[in-house]
Amino acid sequence: MKRFMFTVGTLVLLCAAAVYLMRDVNSASDENKPEDSVQQSGELQTSKPPMSAPPVSKPEPATDVPPASKSEPATDAPPASKPEPATDVPPASKPPTETLPSRDILLVNAEHPLPKDFRLEHLVKLYDQKNRHFQLAKADIKISQTVFEAMDKMFAAARKDGVKGFIITSGYRSDKEQKEIFSTTTDGTAAKPGESEHEAGIAFDVAAMGNESFELTPQFKWLSKHCAEYGFIIRYPKGMEKVTGYPFEPWHYRYVGKADAVIIMSKGITLEQYLEEQ
Ligand SMILES: [Zn+2]
Repeated sequence: MKRFMFTVGTLVLLCAAAVYLMRDVNSASDENKPEDSVQQSGELQTSKPPMSAPPVSKPEPATDVPPASKSEPATDAPPASKPEPATDVPPASKPPTETLPSRDILLVNAEHPLPKDFRLEHLVKLYDQKNRHFQLAKADIKISQTVFEAMDKMFAAARKDGVKGFIITSGYRSDKEQKEIFSTTTDGTAAKPGESEHEAGIAFDVAAMGNESFELTPQFKWLSKHCAEYGFIIRYPKGMEKVTGYPFEPWHYRYVGKADAVIIMSKGITLEQYLEEQ
């Protein structure tokens, strides 16, 4: 009987202890609850530290943390925006010659003679291009295929605007031809052999019907306004003699491609200055 009573007593005690403990656990979990709910709202770190006095200085790093976590999505965003430039690149690289400024424009001048390994693009004889939109001063003028296509488009557009009478006086020149011109030209406009863009087949000289100075013609006015749209620049602009080494040549047009030409002509700079900026 005694043992029974003892057992019952023990059980009662255990039950009481269990109840007591349960109460503690409940109250403990109750205490945690608000924190949990705060944590869920993301404010735990700011609200928790002030509860403990010593880490008062910690709330600062703690408050720094949420911004840090805020900035994580922010730093995630740039990667997210990275794909955009990445997707921009392929289309940009699709039309490389016409829409993007190129970094490898051939510079030909006294300081930069035509490279020995320069390879001429296929030359076309302008006389053979029967439907062209300009006239010729000579029958044997040639120019690179790309330049011909661009210049013909340009002169066709000028004709649409009512500006006609363009006469091409020079295109590609062989080394021998450039030698002859250099030895017979005394006005300083002829380049030494090896230093002329004409020898690369990428430039032409143009004149207008009549004998007036080309600078004063409607043809020049139209070209100076529109040539860049077709990839051409006035290679030796007025007042740039010190930069180009040549006096103003309103008749000499150099093909560089539309993207570069538009920048060069709109800035009113020389090819030398443009390439220096790159
Ligand atoms: Zn020229």
